[in-house]
Amino acid sequence: MAPTPGPSAVIDRVMNAFTGLTGAPPDGVWSAPGRVNLIGEHTDYNAGLALPIALPRRTYAAARRRDDTRFRLWSAQTQGLTEVDLATVGPGSPTGWTAYAVGVAWALTQADGAAGDRARAVLAGGGGGLDLVIDSTVPLGAGLSSSAALGCAVGAALSDLWGLDLLSSEAGRQELVTATRCAENVVAGAPTGGMDQSASLLCQEGHALLLDCQTGSTRPIPFDLPSHDLALLVVDTKAEHALVDGQYAARRASCERAAGELGVASLRDLDPRSLQIDLAKLSDPIDRARVRHVVTEIERVHESVAAMEQGDFAAVGRLFDESHASLRDDYEVSCAELDVAVEAMVSAGALGARMTGGGFGGSCIGLVPINELEAAVEAVHTAYADRGWPPAEVFTATAAGPAARDA
Ligand code: ADP
Ligand code: MG
Repeated sequence: MAPTPGPSAVIDRVMNAFTGLTGAPPDGVWSAPGRVNLIGEHTDYNAGLALPIALPRRTYAAARRRDDTRFRLWSAQTQGLTEVDLATVGPGSPTGWTAYAVGVAWALTQADGAAGDRARAVLAGGGGGLDLVIDSTVPLGAGLSSSAALGCAVGAALSDLWGLDLLSSEAGRQELVTATRCAENVVAGAPTGGMDQSASLLCQEGHALLLDCQTGSTRPIPFDLPSHDLALLVVDTKAEHALVDGQYAARRASCERAAGELGVASLRDLDPRSLQIDLAKLSDPIDRARVRHVVTEIERVHESVAAMEQGDFAAVGRLFDESHASLRDDYEVSCAELDVAVEAMVSAGALGARMTGGGFGGSCIGLVPINELEAAVEAVHTAYADRGWPPAEVFTATAAGPAARDA
């Protein structure tokens, strides 16, 4: 397993890079975590439930205020210095990775309430720009939400450097969820559902976050695997498949069409006890399978939370397995690399395993007894090598804390 550099090593690295690139130290360093969703997949846009944890892997932003409106940005993951004037930021602009960073600044200037007023005042005063240096231990594009980690790290920096005070309260963090999601949806143009930003800003250490996408409410659920002699294994398959955007849009369209046919605002409003009756009303067999996934998946989140609260991780493992089968067979968003890693972990003794994130590549997770951990890692590597696939990256993850100031 690849060791992840610890937070203090990356904080030092990003501070040194900042000083080297700009000639002076930063005002501070802020960081925000990536996430894995334990269960509740493709439910967010159906007003359903999700259950992410924040990862110990984080994106770090070293930042210093400027007295103009320019952002100068550099990332250890992409290299190259980019300059963007905040006055030119808006829907669809800029393109590329800086959209996730400067997009948050723009979104804050569009926000309601005291924070928006304060952000607009900073801009009206002729300032608001930042020098920003980014470094990260979240793999990019692996379905572990490096994009939200980037946006939330910059959002945390802006909260402090613009004097918005959004980090010290739940309500403030919710406002930052709205702004960072707006940056991803409107500036970067990615139609994501907000789970990633909620996880990065609201998760608590040692807990999963039960996220109700209908009401926006959240509840921390104890998730302390080491005390049950278990570990969560994350497998980044490194697989990337084409046509993913079209597939995502097609799944959303299926759900909307079915909700329309059944006369409900969203699939969340369907009663799982009368699922068979509702399914029989649908004319399209593919829509029927999609709906079956969404309704049963929301139920599995409820059942997982109950099982975790009772410390019944054997039951959680079974629900992981059922979730994976449902995503593979009914929702059709898995792929060979995910199925093989999931099967390898289960055959090596995992209590359960499933793909996590949107699918068609990305990552999967397994709930593994500590004494089977080595065997499970080995099984994944062997299965990939046997097929001649490039090696997956495999690491364990605990439930980590949310976006914060580090230095
Ligand atoms: P995921 O969020 O699952 O990692 P996305 O496709 O949503 O995948 O986001 C990945 C994109 O986010 C990258 O292509 C890049 O534009 C941006 N990004 C994320 N982290 C960084 C980083 N540390 N430096 C530069 N760009 C980043
Ligand atoms: Mg993302």
